[in-house]
Amino acid sequence: ITSKLPSVGTTIFTTMSQLAMDTGAINLSQGFPDFDAPEFLLAGVGRHVLAGQNQYAPMTGLPALREQVAMKVQSLYGRTVSAQDEVTITPGATQAIFCAIQATVRPGDEVIIFDPCYDSYEPSVQLAGGTAVHLPLQLPDFAIDWQRLADALSPRTRLVILNSPHNPSGALLSRVDLDRLAALLRDREDVLVLSDEVYEHLVFDGREHFSVLRHDELYARAFVVSSFGKTYHVTGWKTGYLIAPPMLTAEMRKVHQYVSFTAVTPLQWALADYMTAHPEHVSELPGFYQAKRDLFCERLAQSRFRFTPAAGTYFQLADYSEIRPDLDDVAMAQWLTREHGVACIPISVFYQVPPSDVRLVRFCFAKREETLMLATEKLRDV
Ligand code: PMP
Ligand code: GLN
Repeated sequence: ITSKLPSVGTTIFTTMSQLAMDTGAINLSQGFPDFDAPEFLLAGVGRHVLAGQNQYAPMTGLPALREQVAMKVQSLYGRTVSAQDEVTITPGATQAIFCAIQATVRPGDEVIIFDPCYDSYEPSVQLAGGTAVHLPLQLPDFAIDWQRLADALSPRTRLVILNSPHNPSGALLSRVDLDRLAALLRDREDVLVLSDEVYEHLVFDGREHFSVLRHDELYARAFVVSSFGKTYHVTGWKTGYLIAPPMLTAEMRKVHQYVSFTAVTPLQWALADYMTAHPEHVSELPGFYQAKRDLFCERLAQSRFRFTPAAGTYFQLADYSEIRPDLDDVAMAQWLTREHGVACIPISVFYQVPPSDVRLVRFCFAKREETLMLATEKLRDV
């Protein structure tokens, strides 16, 4: 058969986690915690399984969980969203992103994506028959080049995909950024926004996350996506949600109901119980992860890697040009894994056209203190 995705191989996350496993390296590549979620959350799954919550949940998600999401959005972002008409629980943020794209992008439409970007966007656009228009973020801050964005908007533009806090750089969009985007799109009612905010609670040094949910003008045309996996340390549960105004939610649900129909029932119950009992979890997350970032960065500062501490996410970029300037980042990631026992992610794979002189790799610091100590000990010897 002729492939519908001829240029797509196995994702870098699978490749690097496998290499870490094969070589016994400490895995700071694929983003996931090496510690468990709170006991109360984990025990909730068993409780609901044994209580017989093992059949299909409603297509839109468990009402109790949608209510909890709506309450969180109200308290953090000051927006009243309808749990019934604007919140949809999905099997992971990735599925929500896929459904939003399939529901809105037609053959010939263009979708603006800022590079480096999470690797699921482009194939989702291609499968919808659309064309991804990649705009590089400007180094060193990974900022949007507004002139380039203005120039890239065409009559065929259908969607702009944002990601803040940003994977892999940790950069955040500001209120000013959102205002600029809103101004650019003001006379383009046909252009929608997909805002990937899966790291919404992971912001450091007292910074604030400016969710599109805080922006009336942008929210009116937006899908906002998040992931319980990141927020509650359960990436393997593959449970997330999408928030959008009722008309966009209705379109997205037309796809969602035939891609998966719904998300896993007992997991939704456990999350709803936990959010009800522990609303403080999300406000404690920045401090929890900042301590990990600080430990990792303090110790990495004693190595020959160069970096600016991440503003958000659980990823830290590091420049290795003083160590192996001769290696491109894919070769560097392999060398570091094989020879020094620490796996990381090369960032060129997040680009359509990687900058030729980029010497950056990404480390995930969502790890126990012992893991971070051991990994940085190895990195200091590189
Ligand atoms: N978007 C970004 C930027 C991510 O880093 C991830 C992490 N996997 C996702 C989406 C997907 O989240 P989920 O695991 O809930 O599908
Ligand atoms: N988002 C995670 C990362 O960036 C991995 C997601 C995945 O494995 N598909 O590492």
